[in-house]
Amino acid sequence: MTAMTATTGLDPESLAFTLESIDEFAQRELSEGLLIELDERDEFPEGLVRRMCGEELGVQLLFLPEQYGGMGGSAVDVYRVCERMAAIDLGIATSVLATVLGSEPITVGGTPEQRALWLGRIADEGILMAYGATEPDAGSDLAALKTTAKPVVEDGGEVVYLLNGAKQWISNGGVADAATVLALAPGGPTWFVVDGNAPGLTRGEPEDKHGIRLSNTAALFLDNVRVPAEQLVGGVEGHGLVQAQQVFGYTRLMVAAFGLGAGWAALDRAIPYSTERIQGGGPLSAKQGYTHKLIVPHAVRLEAARAAIEETAERIDAGEGALNAEGAIAKYLATEAGNAAADAAIQALGGYGYTHEYVVEKIKRDVRITTIYEGTSEIMEMTVARDRWQQHLKTRGDHYHAAARELEALDAPSPGVGADVAALAHHALAELMEACRLARLTRHQHVLLRVGQLAALVEGAAALVRRAARAAEGGLGPKASRRFDARLLAAMSRANARNVAMTVGTDAVRWVTGTGDGSGVEQLVARLGVPAIQAAQVGLMADLDGIADGLYGRT
Ligand SMILES: Cc1cc2nc3c(=O)[nH]c(=O)nc-3n(C[C@H](O)[C@H](O)[C@H](O)COP(=O)(O)OP(=O)(O)OC[C@H]3O[C@@H](n4cnc5c(N)ncnc54)[C@H](O)[C@@H]3O)c2cc1C
Repeated sequence: MTAMTATTGLDPESLAFTLESIDEFAQRELSEGLLIELDERDEFPEGLVRRMCGEELGVQLLFLPEQYGGMGGSAVDVYRVCERMAAIDLGIATSVLATVLGSEPITVGGTPEQRALWLGRIADEGILMAYGATEPDAGSDLAALKTTAKPVVEDGGEVVYLLNGAKQWISNGGVADAATVLALAPGGPTWFVVDGNAPGLTRGEPEDKHGIRLSNTAALFLDNVRVPAEQLVGGVEGHGLVQAQQVFGYTRLMVAAFGLGAGWAALDRAIPYSTERIQGGGPLSAKQGYTHKLIVPHAVRLEAARAAIEETAERIDAGEGALNAEGAIAKYLATEAGNAAADAAIQALGGYGYTHEYVVEKIKRDVRITTIYEGTSEIMEMTVARDRWQQHLKTRGDHYHAAARELEALDAPSPGVGADVAALAHHALAELMEACRLARLTRHQHVLLRVGQLAALVEGAAALVRRAARAAEGGLGPKASRRFDARLLAAMSRANARNVAMTVGTDAVRWVTGTGDGSGVEQLVARLGVPAIQAAQVGLMADLDGIADGLYGRT
């Protein structure tokens, strides 16, 4: 899955069939009433999850290479399936994610024998896995881990490791048949596969959580747990943190798709609700102050995030590598957009939205985790900022100017998709980064992380521009989502580009001026191109009207 070679994955018909099978299973087994009840009872539906990951549905097969009995899904396949699962229930989707996460250290770093054994068991037996990285005192900073793995030579001469420590917030922790556990061996952090029934392994009570209450989250306690040396992932100590990084490139796209699926699930409840709900003499859907605040901007943000996810997935499938920074951008954009969309959906349903029965409040509680697990939003900002800062230095400040020129070149053959305005945002970001370099402003961590945020927004805008341009030419990939037509995508892209450009222009002035003495503000505003960004807002209201019409099927 993390290979550097091209992957085609499922053919489009098989992907469509997989998505249909998931929908059918959900319609049959996961009624809305049941999901609400399980959420209220804070219950993990273990039997249902085992059936989903067993012969009946076999959803886990998508994530496993074909040589080990899986379907060898590509990154695009995985994004489409994760989006669909999240729209059904994010807790259940998390349980599937946990098995994938748990297997990924083996996929990226395991020996051929370990892969055959463990990936084979996931494929054939549908075992549930857990991924044990986080500890009570080691979360974002995994290198602070304290769990130890001590090698000992037993009487017969066999080398085994004794694991001691605790793992915190482990999805499937209470139920997994096996877990990959990161522990500090003499050679450094190392992954071990630990059997669920290994003596000395105990599991905490399920956590009483804000959301994803249909997933099991529990601590793992390791007290002299004996792990044979052949269960040391890859057979060599000290590669654990590198392998954990490799895992992220792929799994962050899964979580990004979760944010996208959950965000759209919330909007897909708010949109029909607002056509039925009559207030002030007409349906809410006819009120601009409602749609243009609670619906349209969220649909736009989600589609910018989709563009970033889809493009990154296609590039991973084309063999461009793990694309860690792009994965971080996709996760950041999609999970923040999903969270904001779900919150807006509660508002859009008013008092009804605040009750369990209307489900949007459950989606809001569920989607909240996506900005936390698999790297928090702040860690995503840092990851993006550091990577793009290096690009800025390496290119002597030209990185985002060059990207802007590419967008400008796209504007002539593909007018009307907002490429010109996205280019303004890129130029402004390049100027902000240069101003930061000259005045050494990234010594303020807050400024560095704001640069990361703006870089993600700008790159999301560029991805949506390219997606809209491809859609206009009929060139979207065969497995791309086709929910919106080219005209609507173009309007969304223009609106998004304007918004992003405005945010970059305004924030750049804020952070540069806010860290300085107030001199040179006018020159800064000119260098950033703020007047052009302001002028580019012409047409915004017409686009928002057009997007609302498109979302409500009024065109
Ligand atoms: C429901 C759930 C399921 C989970 N499942 C798993 C799982 O299956 N396996 C697993 O290993 N882990 C799992 N996790 C753990 C999850 O990945 C961590 O909670 C997450 O990485 C954050 O770590 P932390 O909770 O220790 O927070 P911290 O790292 O303490 O962060 C707290 C806050 O500080 C911010 N912060 C941290 N470092 C910095 C910094 N250097 N600069 C600025 N701000 C910073 C963070 O962004 C965050 O806002 C799960 C967590 C939950 C809640």
